[in-house]
Parts: sequence; structure tokens; C-alpha cells
Amino acid sequence: MDGVPTPLRCFNEFHSAEMFVDDGVESVTSVEQKKVERSIEEVISVYKQIHSLPQPTLLREQHYQYLKKGLRHLSDAYECLDASRPWLCFWILHSLELLEEPIPAAVASDVCQFLARCQSPTGGFAGGPGQHAHLAPTYAAVNALCIIGTEEAYNIIDREKLLDFLWSVKQPDGSFVMHVGGEVDVRSAYCAASVASLTNILTPKLFENTTNWILSCQNWEGGLSGVPGLEAHGGYTFCGTAALVILGKEHMLDLKALLRWVVSRQMRFEGGFQGRCNKLVDGCYSFWQAGLLPLLHRALFKEGESELSRQRWMFEQQALQEYILLCCQNPTGGLLDKPGKSRDFYHTCYCLSGLSIAQHFGNVDLHHEIILGREENRLVRGRRTFYHIYWSSIIYMHLILCNLLLLLFYNICPEKVAQAVQHFLRLPVPDVNKQPAASAGDRPEDSASTSGSADHQS
Ligand SMILES: [Zn+2]
Repeated sequence: MDGVPTPLRCFNEFHSAEMFVDDGVESVTSVEQKKVERSIEEVISVYKQIHSLPQPTLLREQHYQYLKKGLRHLSDAYECLDASRPWLCFWILHSLELLEEPIPAAVASDVCQFLARCQSPTGGFAGGPGQHAHLAPTYAAVNALCIIGTEEAYNIIDREKLLDFLWSVKQPDGSFVMHVGGEVDVRSAYCAASVASLTNILTPKLFENTTNWILSCQNWEGGLSGVPGLEAHGGYTFCGTAALVILGKEHMLDLKALLRWVVSRQMRFEGGFQGRCNKLVDGCYSFWQAGLLPLLHRALFKEGESELSRQRWMFEQQALQEYILLCCQNPTGGLLDKPGKSRDFYHTCYCLSGLSIAQHFGNVDLHHEIILGREENRLVRGRRTFYHIYWSSIIYMHLILCNLLLLLFYNICPEKVAQAVQHFLRLPVPDVNKQPAASAGDRPEDSASTSGSADHQS
């Protein structure tokens, strides 16, 4: 398949038959859906006029320049993300690693020093210097430091205090609040499990009851909601599922119901994913939704499912690439939600992450690529080690590589996860008998609110 120009879906005469039909009942939602489809039709029509060959191009150089500039300078438009600054570091650094662009040592060191200033004296990281610790920027900061992967980066993380912070946000029912005095949702369990496992401070006691709490977020639709009883949502579903994988309990989900829900979120005409039933397509769900399919593939494989493909994930990988490459690229760099929206670092990171998933299936032995367009569109095979273990499960079952199983769920490239895990496994787990000092969620402290992935309510 490599390098062979593939016919584009949008060049097919039957493509327009996939457009939304409202059965004569117009609603606010149907009007919006048709508007988006028209804008995509326009993009496709322009593409057809300019290009006779179906070779959509990933604008690597433009994305690189946009990302590089973002590490040093942000426009006024980012003022509203003042409480999400570690996220900006993570989104940019992860995008650069997917593009296989090295981070200059001086820049890496500056990012380390900045993140050090975001670390709270009480443990965990805040959205900016002098703010309160919060699980979302803690996840972003730990990931960013692991991507940098230097001794300087690792040594910034105060693991003992990080564990204190995690205990301070743990709730008796197994859930976590995002920050002391803050809200509970399934993102927090994922952020806590992710940073705890990456830095080797994960203890069974810390995650007591967490599995059951996350399982209670899976609803009748098959996906997971932010808290029990609400609507299923792509961001929360990824967070909950990935947290369960980290805890080794994903088999307790209704996997078939989850599979049915997520594959139904890929849009028939657009090719990208929506976040919730009856919502519009959005580039960032290329990761939150498509990222669930490798997790489900592995979980179903472990459950003995014999009908699984050894060449493809269970979604239309080419259609997703087509959506990202044709509809989500800003010609001057950066990626976006849908045509007509502005570029930003969040969508750049998650569109590229989704593109990588859509391009690569399998492992070293069974690796299968579907690269739409030019060879240069190939992103780093971000999850190679994970897939390798997935297909060769009896080979690598000692402790370090068990941790490597988790790498898909951090959304960091595998070599960096391996390096971080090896580094932190050499260090002892701080006081495994540690207990919560008090019911932290009841403390009346005020706290800076920091946005995380699933705050994006598309
Ligand atoms: Zn989005």
C-alpha cells in the first residue's frame, strides 16, 4: 500500500449519497449539520479544481514553523489559556515529536524551567506560576517533561509531593476531583492514573474503588460520560477507557457496546469523528474517538475475540486521513476543528495524533500502513512498542515492558515513555502506606480553574 496513490472518497460519485437526510424534519441540529456538509463540499470542490491527482499533502514545514514560533511567542488570543500553559507546552512538544522535529536543547531547558515554576509547593502542577495545583496541567506537565526526556526534565518532578497532591484530590468513592475543592469527572481519574504510572508512584490503595467509579460512567449508549448518568462523550470515553487500561481493568467494560458507540461517531460524509451523538464533526476527535479503536482492538483480542482484523482498525482509516488533510489544515500552518474555524495548538496536537493512528496499524511484524497521499505525509509510528506487545503478548511480560503497554494512553511516543519508565522505576515508590490526610474535596479553598481535554464540549 505504501506510496501508492489511493483514490479519494470525495472523488467517488457516490460520496454525496452519504450526506445527511433530515426526512423533512428540520431542526437546529439538522441545519447546522447541513451547513458543515456544504462547507466541506466547497473544500472538496476547490481541491478537485486544483488537483487532478489524489495526493493530499501534509503541510509539514508550515506546521513546524507554526509550532516552533508557539514555543517562544503566543498571540493575545491565547490570553484565555493563561491557566493552561503546561497544556500549550505538551500540545506543541507532542506535535513536534509526531512530525519528527527535534527540540533544540536550549528550548527544552527553558521549557523545563518554566514547568518547574508551575509546580506547586504542595505537589502537582498548576496552570501557570503562582496558581493552584490541578490534575489537568499536572498531566500535561508530566507528559511534556517526559517528551523532553532529559535528567533535568525528570528531576523537576517532585514525586513525593505529587503523591501527596494525588491523595489530596482522591475521593472515598474512588473518583478524583480535578483540584482541591473542584469538580469530579472522569478526566481526573485518567490524569491521576497517567501521571502516577509514568512516574512510578501508582499504588493499589491510591486507586481503590476507582475502577468501579469509572465503570459507572459507561451508560446505555455504550460510551462513557464525565460523571455517572450523563451523556456519552468522546473525550471522557477515551479518558475513562485509558484509565481502566492503565489499571488493568478494561475488560470490565461492556466492550461491544463501547465499540458500537464509537464506530457510530465517524461521520459518513465528512470522514472525521463527532464527539457525541447528533453533534458536528471536529478534528480533535480524530484522537479522542479514533484512539479508542486500538484500545478496543487489544481488549477484544485479550478476551479471545477471533474475528479481529490483522490489517486494519475498526474504523475507516482512509476517510479520517482525508478529512484531516483536506479539511483541517491551515495553509500557513496549524490544524483545526473544521473548515471555517481557526487553527490552534490543541487541534494541531490532536489532529496529528489522530492522523498517526489512522496511518499505522499493528507492530513490527504485522505493521500495516495506510498512508493517504504523499510518502512525506507519514507521521512517526507513535505506538509501535504497544502494538508489538499486543501481538506478541507472551514475550515481554516483565515489569518494564508491562508499563510500556500503557504508552498509547499517555499520547507520548513510545521511546519517550520507555525512557521515562526506566528512569522512574529505578526510584522507590514514595511511602506506599500514605493515606489521605482529610477529605480534601471538602476543603473550602479557592482554586484556579484549568481547562483540560474534555472541557472542549463539541
Ligand atoms: Zn475540537
